[in-house]
Amino acid sequence: MNQSGACDCGAAAYSVKEGPLHVYACHCLNCQTRSGSAFAEHAMVPEAAFECQGKTEEFRRSAQGMEFTEVFCRACHTRIYNKNSLLPGIVFLRAGTLEHSQKLVPMAHIWTSRKQPWVMLPEEVPVFDKSPSPEEFGAAVAAALERGS
Ligand SMILES: [Zn+2]
Ligand SMILES: [Zn+2]
Repeated sequence: MNQSGACDCGAAAYSVKEGPLHVYACHCLNCQTRSGSAFAEHAMVPEAAFECQGKTEEFRRSAQGMEFTEVFCRACHTRIYNKNSLLPGIVFLRAGTLEHSQKLVPMAHIWTSRKQPWVMLPEEVPVFDKSPSPEEFGAAVAAALERGS
């Protein structure tokens, strides 16, 4: 399944050659602050299946013992994706930049201990107080594939 997306102004666009996208919502305070919203919606994609074209700029930062590379549109400053030193080879797309983002269903909600009280979560989706372990996250991915989402 080929998916595509772009920044707000269209100067930077990308395509994802292989699915599925593993979409999750992170309710941590960093994501709330950095997104300026109640939670962030991320889609994990293998870097090898991802191609981004256009005028982008990188911003590097360190946090929680990791190096993050944030990539955004040079013209309109929409944040498009980031990479981190813990999981090299994985692109963390800002899921809202995907063309059909309204069809995405997060397969997990993480850091729900920081969740805004008005955000209601669906019962069938795994929920994690903080960051799940790689095993727990893997199980959530497998369960989502089984549900077909
Ligand atoms: Zn732009
Ligand atoms: Zn977060």
